[in-house]
This record gives sequence, structure tokens and C-alpha cells, in this order.
Amino acid sequence: MYQTLEEINELVKKCTKCDLCKNRKNTVFGDGNPNAKVMFIGEGPGGDEDIQGIPFVGKAGQLMNEAFIGLGIDRSKVYIANIVKCRPPGNRTPLKSEADSCLDYLRNQVILIKPEIIVLMGNTALKNILGDEYVITSSRGKWIEKKGIKYMPTFHPAALLRDETKKIDFWNDLKLVIKECNGQF
Ligand code: URA
Ligand code: SF4
Repeated sequence: MYQTLEEINELVKKCTKCDLCKNRKNTVFGDGNPNAKVMFIGEGPGGDEDIQGIPFVGKAGQLMNEAFIGLGIDRSKVYIANIVKCRPPGNRTPLKSEADSCLDYLRNQVILIKPEIIVLMGNTALKNILGDEYVITSSRGKWIEKKGIKYMPTFHPAALLRDETKKIDFWNDLKLVIKECNGQF
């Protein structure tokens, strides 16, 4: 257990706990408000994130940003992170072993940020945080409460790029989040 986000970030920057360290340009620790009430968790950095060191700045991130703007969510008031902090080659899904190696950092971030709500975007986030028995298609849009944190599973923004019909579900799931926190991020 580390006491500050900066301290964890310093460890992440030089982390070699899994092979994803080999091809990274930058680690992608997290972005946003360290006191956020609402945290968003994705899968792992893509090419743009790897270059910039910031989560969700590529195409999927732009779609997420559009939804945020449309719904009145201020990106700087929430906190955004990923299951793994280094880019998987070719943007493949992180291996279970890679996610397991990296999860201590994310857990420590959650302990320090103390969000009331965590939005799990896509199966990688859902399964690694809540368990392999969950699947996004049946879990999305429904609250799951565990150890005092309310989890909202929803589609990963990259899924909206592949299938436009999922956009409405993503927006509706975020509306549930806004309602739950009374628009107070
Ligand atoms: N996809 C993710 O899961 N995370 C990012 O940061 C960018 C794309
Ligand atoms: Fe370390 Fe996580 Fe990067 Fe693997 S993905 S090298 S565990 S920071």
C-alpha cells in the first residue's frame, strides 16, 4: 500500500513486472481528479496513449469525450485509468498474467481516490475487477455493489466504434451514473 498517487506512478514508470514493459514508449498511469467520486476503468493503452502517456486520447477516447460533453460530464472532475498501464502489442487484450501483475497498482489507486462509483468499460475491466463470471452484454446497465463501491459495467468505447448501435446503451449507462451521483462528480 502506497500513500500517494505520485509514489505509485513513479513505481509504474520503471515497472518491469510483466513483458508489456518491453515495447512501451510510455506508461499510462491515469488522468483526472485524484478526489473523483466517479472513476472510469478501461482496458489498456493503445497507440496514441502509449505515445502521450495519457489514457483515452485516441479514437476511442474521442468517442468517450464526445459522450462526456454531450452528457455534461467534465472529464477533469472524474478519474480515468486502465487495467494495464503499458500497451499490449497490436492492442490485443491483456493476458490474465499481465492484468494480474498490474492490478495491485490500480487497486492502490482506488484505495487512495476512494470513488463512490466505478464505471467498468468492457469485459477486460469487468472481469478483472469483479470476476470472470461476469459478461458485459448481460451485466451492462445494472448496478453491482461490492464493499461499499457501486460498479456500473458498460461497453468499452472502442466497441462503439465497431458497432454504432451500442452508443445509445453507453449513453444510457452513463445517464444512470449521473443520476446516482446527482451530477456531482
Ligand atoms: N482503450 C483503453 O482501454 N484505454 C485507453 O486508455 C485507450 C483505449
Ligand atoms: Fe508493470 Fe503493469 Fe506495465 Fe506490466 S503492464 S510492466 S505490470 S506497469
